[in-house]
Amino acid sequence: SKLLVVSTFSGGGVLVYSDSSPLRRLLHADATLDENGQPIRKKKVVVLGSGWSGYSFLNYLNNPNYDVQIVSPRNFFLFTPLLPSVTNGTVEARSIVEPIRGLMRKKGFEYTEAECVKIDASNKKIHCRSKDGSSLKGTAEFDMDYDILVIAVGAKPNTFNTPGVEEHAYFLKEAEDALNIRHSVIDCFERASLPNLTEEERKKILHFVVVGGGPTGVEFSAELHDFLVDDVAKIYPKVQEFTRITLLEAGDHILNMFDKRITAFAEEKFQRDGIDLKTGSMVVGVTADEISTKERETGKVVSEPYGMVVWSTGIGSRPVIRDFMQQIGQGQRRVLATDEWLRVEGCDSVYALGDTATINQRRVMEDIAAIFSKADKGNTGTLNKKDFNGVVKDICQRYPQVELYLKKNKLKNIAQLLKSANGEDTQVNIEKFKQALSEVDSQMKNLPATAQVASQQGKYLAKCFNQMEKCEKKPEGPLRFRGEGRHRFQPFRYKHFGSFAPLGGEQTAAELPGDWVSIGHSSQWLWYSVYASKLVSWRTRMLVISDWTRRFVFGRDSSSI
Ligand code: FAD
Repeated sequence: SKLLVVSTFSGGGVLVYSDSSPLRRLLHADATLDENGQPIRKKKVVVLGSGWSGYSFLNYLNNPNYDVQIVSPRNFFLFTPLLPSVTNGTVEARSIVEPIRGLMRKKGFEYTEAECVKIDASNKKIHCRSKDGSSLKGTAEFDMDYDILVIAVGAKPNTFNTPGVEEHAYFLKEAEDALNIRHSVIDCFERASLPNLTEEERKKILHFVVVGGGPTGVEFSAELHDFLVDDVAKIYPKVQEFTRITLLEAGDHILNMFDKRITAFAEEKFQRDGIDLKTGSMVVGVTADEISTKERETGKVVSEPYGMVVWSTGIGSRPVIRDFMQQIGQGQRRVLATDEWLRVEGCDSVYALGDTATINQRRVMEDIAAIFSKADKGNTGTLNKKDFNGVVKDICQRYPQVELYLKKNKLKNIAQLLKSANGEDTQVNIEKFKQALSEVDSQMKNLPATAQVASQQGKYLAKCFNQMEKCEKKPEGPLRFRGEGRHRFQPFRYKHFGSFAPLGGEQTAAELPGDWVSIGHSSQWLWYSVYASKLVSWRTRMLVISDWTRRFVFGRDSSSI
């Protein structure tokens, strides 16, 4: 039989073995062989991003048939829920990052520190640029082929093209952002403490403006307020009286995605704390010295001097994703659309997870209509209760948004929705049911852009990849309503475990499954335990717990290092 040279020993000897020898199998222990003992060409999976969804995907991926390559400008995973605590030194930035190289070594994956600047889906290629291109003289840009692409690049802060925001405001998205904010806050206090300043100048420098009353803006305001009360009073007693925090929100209320009880508590607490909360106030421009808002009540534009602005009004697609959406006919959409298996619509072998994508809502409604038409075999416009229940089960299984909508409206299932439309008839009128669903359509929200969704999507996709071969032979998904047979996998289903809104002063609001709301000090302890347990390694867990202890004992560090 054929002889192959495999490797040379350091002593100069040459190891030779035959094509079919057991030794060959032994030496190829890490390569996957087909049933004839031939190595299988591994599919190349390229993952873009090392954030919540990318990290979770890589962590759970466990299939030796894939050659996995990660491209991300960030060589670490960032635990974003604790980012607001970095802005005032409660927690150190290093404590909430986990180097990606450790996971790569453990899993045998490859990592490249670069940013993907273009996706060429028709040639299955990505174009990348190294983070520090200037020092690499021509090697800074390169192409990479893929068989399967997993897009997990997250999103960028959305400025709504408000003039001056990019130039003058701070964002809170990355570890560097949090450190920049921390330095800038300290810097404001040092500047305001300089001699020869007027009172007006001190007031301007120490006016902190937070734009956006969502969870991040609220948490940052609360952290800043804690810093002023707990530490600034001791460290900068002479200028403490000049400090002011203003929180601007364009809508009627802050935390409007939370239960009304939480919103009301947060608004009252902020008023008690002296945080100047302005709702119905939309920022129309920021200059180096002033921030201008249009007040909904009066219709007037008002300008105020400020020392520092932090912008936290939501997220938008990254340029590389916008360009990709144009290529694949999704240019009109706001966010990249996937189906419920997280496959990018209109594009083969590309998946998208986390903040970068959303399951296409309009198609969901078209699909629901198609599911009905298929179930209505006799074309009668009605379904009997048994068929109807089957259809409803299918819909809830496929579409997490529908399920979330029902839960939010305290409906057990879609069948309850129907009662108002159809009464107690034994035959279900399809048209009436669709009318009832159109209510879901108009109110149904996309899945929230949270770490919870992103990490569950990463885990789901990894599980699909892990059982790709098995499920090809034995599909486990629901019946196809377009075409015959079953889908290979169950669709992605989101499980909501609740949300927290830290409000400062060791108080947190918690909204937990089952419509359970808890606000106060006890929820703060729940918050500490949940986030400590969610940190991705024992190293970060120990670091964060020791940061919290350090803060309790010694207070926050106010050096601008
Ligand atoms: P990210 O985690 O943002 O990861 C994106 C990755 O892609 C990064 O590694 C990035 O470097 C990389 N990348 C970017 N561009 C490219 C490119 N061109 N090519 C390759 N790689 C690229 N959610 C919660 O559930 N609970 C919370 O308490 C919470 N608190 C938050 C607090 C703050 C301050 C912030 C900013 C967010 C918070 N979130 C929270 C939201 C949560 O962080 C996001 O929903 C989550 O990070 C989304 O995960 P992702 O994988 O889509 O993106």
